[in-house]
Amino acid sequence: MLHMHIVCLDLEGVLVPEIWIAFAERTGIAEFRRTTRDEPDYDKLMRWRLALLKEHQLKLADIQSVIAAMAPLPGAREFLDELRRRYQVLILSDTFYEFADPLMRQLGRPTLLCHRLVADAEGFVADYTLRQPDQKRQAVLAMKSLNFRVIAAGDSYNDTAMLATADAGFLIHPPPAIAAQFPQFPVCAGYRELLSGIDAAAAAFAPAR
Ligand SMILES: [Mg+2]
Repeated sequence: MLHMHIVCLDLEGVLVPEIWIAFAERTGIAEFRRTTRDEPDYDKLMRWRLALLKEHQLKLADIQSVIAAMAPLPGAREFLDELRRRYQVLILSDTFYEFADPLMRQLGRPTLLCHRLVADAEGFVADYTLRQPDQKRQAVLAMKSLNFRVIAAGDSYNDTAMLATADAGFLIHPPPAIAAQFPQFPVCAGYRELLSGIDAAAAAFAPAR
């Protein structure tokens, strides 16, 4: 069986800004800056965010209108278009469809696997549902079981299981602490470097003739 390549990319911090941080800046509510680095228990962090939204009377539609004003990172669309001319690309993210939609439209609607938010009758975010625990890693395992060679890139802790499970993994402009803690993953400073890294990895997998 000839293996096909597929590229799995993280979304936030790689193609678009960190959504909660941008949301904190646009609403002026600094508490929304809290991330998994401050609260490693993701469920606790999300429950706290949902309570904070309610406290400020922010409905899902309010969040969406803030996000609608956001744009992908400079050069992200061009990078992704070029990448998709060369490979099939899957975006693996821990964000929510209800958040990502306006940004995905600006990115030309690549395939996105992420989680879901649940709104109540009044339009407040009442809950969230994970696609599955550890979905980035599970998605890479699923692609491998379908005979894809997986090349993955991300920028943070929540990507390291995905990178380790892939056939080749890259960090793109990660925080220095993460680069230091995971020296096994090549660090790319930007899109051009990542694109050449991906090409080199794909070429290394090419079948012998
Ligand atoms: Mg990220």
